[in-house]
Amino acid sequence: MTVNLFSDTQTRPPEGMRRAMYEAEVGDEQRFADPTVNALQERVAQLLGTEAALFLPSGTMCNAIAFRLHIRPGGDEVLLDRTAHPRVAEAGGPGSISGAQLTLLDGDGGIFTPDQLRAAIHPAGDRYGPRTRLVSVEQTTNMGGGRIWPLQTVRGVVSVAREHGLRAHLDGARLLNAVVATGVPASEWAAGFDTAWIDFTKGLGAPVGACLAASRELIEEAWRYKQMWGGAMRQAGIVAAAGLYALDHHVERLAEDHANARALADGLAEIPGVRLDASRVESNIVIFEVDDAMALTGALYEAGVEVTPLGPQRIRMVTHLDVDRAGCERAVAVVREALAA
Ligand SMILES: *Cc1c(COP(=O)(O)O)cnc(C)c1O
Repeated sequence: MTVNLFSDTQTRPPEGMRRAMYEAEVGDEQRFADPTVNALQERVAQLLGTEAALFLPSGTMCNAIAFRLHIRPGGDEVLLDRTAHPRVAEAGGPGSISGAQLTLLDGDGGIFTPDQLRAAIHPAGDRYGPRTRLVSVEQTTNMGGGRIWPLQTVRGVVSVAREHGLRAHLDGARLLNAVVATGVPASEWAAGFDTAWIDFTKGLGAPVGACLAASRELIEEAWRYKQMWGGAMRQAGIVAAAGLYALDHHVERLAEDHANARALADGLAEIPGVRLDASRVESNIVIFEVDDAMALTGALYEAGVEVTPLGPQRIRMVTHLDVDRAGCERAVAVVREALAA
């Protein structure tokens, strides 16, 4: 059996989730006639403490639409970490479809400070620089190694944004991992942000979908872009049901993924040739360095362990619903053998 640590997107919907999809009541979501989509949107709005929410096909579309909602034509800029998903993994969408110039901050593990944000903001009235319009925070950080922004840092960033009249966006692809790891409710993490979203296809284990939450006014406007960009669906309740099932059954269990990632990190850190500070592993993502990441990735693949090489020396492993402790132990053993060979 393969141990798939490539990503938490690799899960297959379990039987109970498939049954919920089979049994879902559906209708035309574009006419607000899909009760399952409506229920999911209400659930997410409540979870994140906003007036409304919008079901979308992907987290990428949540980021794209949210950026477009905040960015005005004419040189507006978004401040975000160098490793943030919209910059590294959305095919240039922020520039080409949302109209945003991205200005990168050098955070630590994807986390920048309120002072770093303040120092990067172009002053109002400066007609030479781009107009700073939006700050985007990624909780947990993906390419930063699954790190969790401290609540105080998030609050500080939001408060600097407010001081300078910026909008604030929370990329919460793995927000619920942070919720489970810290005990801080999702609505507290999302407080003060203009837009926030969660993904159902990461640790939550659903096959499709994400949900963007915001004020009623912004969500109404978001609907325009959902329609314009081809994200408006019909009997989408069949996939929204998977999201509802995930919120009912797959949130608390994220703690297991975190414990497995910790065990993985502790095991890897002891292997000669692996460079990893296991104390920096806070959720379900483990990023470490070796001399030759491509060679190790290939050797692991041959032995039935799938991982992601992030660069010439960096490898990412992600735990999820379909990987258990034994799988993590096997991955550690295989890495040890491969590096010894
Ligand atoms: C996966 C991910 C996205 C994009 O979500 P998709 O549903 O895969 O489109 C955005 N941001 C972060 C931090 C992610 O990990």
